[in-house]
Amino acid sequence: MYPAPIDEYVRPATVADALAALGRYEEGDAVFIAGGQSLMQAVKARLVRPRCLIDLQAVDGLSGIEVGAEGLRIGPMTRYAEIARDARLGGAWGALGDAARRVGDRQVRNRGTVGGSLCWNYVAACMPPTAIGLGATLELTAADGSTRSMAAEDFLGGPLETAREENEILTAITIPPAGANAGSAYKKWGLVTDALPVIGVCIALEAEGGRCTAARVAVGGLAGGPQRAGAAEAALAGVAADDDAGIAAAMDAAAREIETQGDLWADSDYRKQLIRSLGADVAASAFGRAAGEEAGQ
Ligand SMILES: Cc1cc2nc3c(=O)[nH]c(=O)nc-3n(C[C@H](O)[C@H](O)[C@H](O)COP(=O)(O)OP(=O)(O)OC[C@H]3O[C@@H](n4cnc5c(N)ncnc54)[C@H](O)[C@@H]3O)c2cc1C
Repeated sequence: MYPAPIDEYVRPATVADALAALGRYEEGDAVFIAGGQSLMQAVKARLVRPRCLIDLQAVDGLSGIEVGAEGLRIGPMTRYAEIARDARLGGAWGALGDAARRVGDRQVRNRGTVGGSLCWNYVAACMPPTAIGLGATLELTAADGSTRSMAAEDFLGGPLETAREENEILTAITIPPAGANAGSAYKKWGLVTDALPVIGVCIALEAEGGRCTAARVAVGGLAGGPQRAGAAEAALAGVAADDDAGIAAAMDAAAREIETQGDLWADSDYRKQLIRSLGADVAASAFGRAAGEEAGQ
């Protein structure tokens, strides 16, 4: 399919100009375009029919990764490829690289952005559960210049739903500072290697003496949108890195508490089994990173 006619293409240089362009149109008639990897499929299929495309590529300050005492600050226009090759993102932030290195193919990773993934919130996307697992906060700027921040888990709703208001732009993603003994990992399983996942699991944990003191567990690929697994988080606390049975019990708790759906790709029970098996691998990688090993997927 080819898109319905698009009247205007704008390439603003500032956030204020991008929001001003959005404000010139009725709701839904103008849309931001980041990497275009999701949006253009919807435009070509005429599921989305914008009259104006606002290209964010040249907007100042929306791209790049800053590491500081406050943790990580990632511009929404940062592309997967940049995240994948950033050597600073190991240990506590290792899940980011795991997710970014396996999104689609090289072309998608060179074009697609972390902000586009979060704002689209596709059912099978990798960044939404990763952002929730890492405790990310999203910063949104409105047309009047005001900003608000919210936890990724509050921003991300059901598939293709977010808490973004029509007059807002995502301007930053922040992730808390890395603890000394913290590690995180993400792993997915899809029908084709590196394709969209049927299930993706992110775990971020802190450990002392090889024993987990706190954990966050998030799962993607769900009909209800990405979710935290609170029972698994509680069950992981106190579990030692080499306690395979304890890790398995925590992941079983995740599988039992999370509602999974059946569809063309996998039935509900298969998804639960993926949560158990992927979850155990991810926990092992996260423990390894917390201990200073650079174990990826
Ligand atoms: C072949 C293929 C394979 C893929 N495989 C995977 C995979 O394995 N894992 C995975 O997670 N994803 C996968 N994807 C999806 C990919 O990750 C997309 O890049 C991502 O979902 C959207 O990012 P984007 O930068 O392309 O955003 P776009 O498509 O440009 O935009 C997506 C949406 O976000 C909005 N938006 C973008 N930036 C902002 C902003 N700063 N503020 C407000 N709104 C904004 C846009 O208006 C639009 O509604 C795949 C895509 C393709 C084509």
